[in-house]
Amino acid sequence: MSSDSNHRKPENRGNEDSTPETASSTTDFEPPEIYAHLLAPADKMCWWCRTRPATTGEHKYKRSSLTRLMDDRQMLVWRDGKQRREIRGKSGIKRDRYGVIKFPKSLCAPCNNDLSQPFDIAYDTYAEHVETHIMRIMPVVDMGSIYESDWQDKSLDLARYHAKHFGCRMAMDRIPIPQSLRDFMNGAQDMDDGQMVIISTDSVHREYGRGMHISPTMAIMDRERTRFIGCVMASYIGSMGIRYEWVADGIPSDQRSQFFHYEHPTINFFRNNEDMIFQKTRKPGRFARFVEWINKP
Ligand SMILES: [Zn+2]
Repeated sequence: MSSDSNHRKPENRGNEDSTPETASSTTDFEPPEIYAHLLAPADKMCWWCRTRPATTGEHKYKRSSLTRLMDDRQMLVWRDGKQRREIRGKSGIKRDRYGVIKFPKSLCAPCNNDLSQPFDIAYDTYAEHVETHIMRIMPVVDMGSIYESDWQDKSLDLARYHAKHFGCRMAMDRIPIPQSLRDFMNGAQDMDDGQMVIISTDSVHREYGRGMHISPTMAIMDRERTRFIGCVMASYIGSMGIRYEWVADGIPSDQRSQFFHYEHPTINFFRNNEDMIFQKTRKPGRFARFVEWINKP
């Protein structure tokens, strides 16, 4: 995680600025017909336990966060590239007429409510911190100050909250959900084919300010279109997000870096969501570099 220049870009420690070699140089987005045959069959079972029927939809944005962010005259604007939806006020959150707030049903009630409760609690603590602090000027996130002595367990729970969120998105998009994501939610401490880093994206900061935002999902196929070989997505509170990347063939441990393994995980800065997808980080801002410099051993 330090001097080796072969490391893939998103980092959780160390902030050396370098130009990333992007795996895929083509940024052509394929029409959906091209990968229809690769999609997982539409499933009525809970994607996490796979034993009980899917009767509930996870919130895309946590209601507690939304109600904190909105008073009754405010409006949440949501966009997925094609559509633009607006939710007016807190009553609009409750109604969720267009399925903006919740994912389609893909989890059973025990998984969505009871089993993931510690994840929700860890997320709430983190979300409240993000909403009340200016974090994107710093080079790192201080998990110790958010979770105190519990930071190791709570950071894992925060990551598992995001694992659940990303799994629901994959279920919605019918991208096969990696077993490592389930194992991680069931208590594994790492994922050998997945990685999560903390990010901040300038365009999201400009456009959404204090709101919440979900990046587009980017799934990557092999050249012969026989399988999905990877997937990238992010979820934001304001401009602060968690980026998840799955690589079907695995990410070697010396190139893998998980934010939840560090008390002070690095913030990876991107100019926009496309750079975020292709791992083109920008230098941290001046203040962040200054803080880094004074903290140098
Ligand atoms: Zn379940």
